Amino acid sequence: EKEKKIKVLKQAEEWGVKFIRLQFTDIFGVLKNVAIPIDQLPKALNNELMFDGSSIEGFVRIEESDMYLYPDPDTFVIFPWRPREGTVARLICDIYNPDGTPFEGCPRNTLKRVVAEAKDMGFVMNVGPEAEFFLFHTDQAGRPTLETHDQASYFDLTPVDLGEEARRDMVLTLEQMGFEIEASHHEVAPGQHEIDFKYADALTTADRIATFKFVVRTIAQRHGLHATFMPKPIYGINGSGMHCNISLFRDGQNAFYDPQGELGLSDVAYHFIAGIMAHARALTAITNPTVNSYKRLVPGYEAPVYIAWSPRNRSPLIRIPAKRGPSTRIEVRHPDPSANPYLAIAVLLKAGLDGIKKKLEPPPPVYKNIYALSPEELAREGIGVLPSSLEEALAELEKDEVIKEALGSHIYERFMLAKRLECEQYRTTVHPWEIEHYLTKF
Ligand code: GLN
Ligand code: MG
Ligand code: MG
Ligand code: MG
Repeated sequence: EKEKKIKVLKQAEEWGVKFIRLQFTDIFGVLKNVAIPIDQLPKALNNELMFDGSSIEGFVRIEESDMYLYPDPDTFVIFPWRPREGTVARLICDIYNPDGTPFEGCPRNTLKRVVAEAKDMGFVMNVGPEAEFFLFHTDQAGRPTLETHDQASYFDLTPVDLGEEARRDMVLTLEQMGFEIEASHHEVAPGQHEIDFKYADALTTADRIATFKFVVRTIAQRHGLHATFMPKPIYGINGSGMHCNISLFRDGQNAFYDPQGELGLSDVAYHFIAGIMAHARALTAITNPTVNSYKRLVPGYEAPVYIAWSPRNRSPLIRIPAKRGPSTRIEVRHPDPSANPYLAIAVLLKAGLDGIKKKLEPPPPVYKNIYALSPEELAREGIGVLPSSLEEALAELEKDEVIKEALGSHIYERFMLAKRLECEQYRTTVHPWEIEHYLTKF
């Protein structure tokens, strides 16, 4: 630990870093940061920096507002988009109470707790996310519009596609920050993109997702575009998901792989799949945490609706990509990028571990196109449905003690309170659709 801190101090000096951003996320996955001048860095690395947590949504009550930031030296990175002069770097932090105990409301601590539980069982979780997003034009005043670059270039005859160029810049910037980019491509919908980075352990990946979203937004802005990770910005076309490719490793070996097993999968893999399916309805509240998330989880847009798994088909909740050996993994397809990455990964892991502990068995795989099955056929095959609204997902979460335990009572209670309020505001708001359909009709 001490050596790592010294290394950070040395690197900061070598690069002429003038400011450090200390970053953490709130319960809702919103990245927060406090900038400190470089001379405060030694103090920060000694976990001596305090901030007032009372104004962070979902954090603490006013009377216990002093929180400590414990920077993780492994997360030190220089922002490549600033000039050498006055270089800025960042450190991701855990939040601690004044008495030196980890703060329960810190999502990063929550994920660490579940990761430790996996470790006690002998497992290390690896996650490779596929975050999708839209790039929209901004208007004269710099406000985001719903106009995609594709449509604009179609009419505008611009020699270069703004979106493709922005995406290339995003990939280069991420690479400079230590990301290994495996693929980046235009997605199905106009203006929609995907950038995939290499899998890593759960905590590293959660940190990277938080960083990724902020880098993508920053670079988009520099290209005069607005990047959004909102799950379904436009009705009638694909939404943006964040498929999570998951595997467990034990003693350095992929624990999901068994050349003797059915489909080349181990018992551990089957139990893990069964655990996710058993808790799917509850954990969806965390992996798909906005009112808008449920407008993506509808038939016809490559997003899952049914709680099923398949080695081929892309319509169910879980798909098994063809790779075996060390790359054996499951692809969980319902999470979307509006999720808090720490909490989403924590609940997915917890659900899978519960499946392993209880030796749950998944139902047989589904080879048919489930979208085409009738309600009777779905019932006959015992195929469940994901929640169709945030309200429904919250009601499921309330009943699931395993997922609640993963979150811890502090986060669970504040999450519920805030999300129920969000549902209520949405429910009582008059939406443009209603005006369009009812204003002149009645
Ligand atoms: N955009 C789709 C979703 O909502 C996924 C499309 C794909 O990657 N095949 O999950
Ligand atoms: Mg993909
Ligand atoms: Mg995709
Ligand atoms: Mg995928």
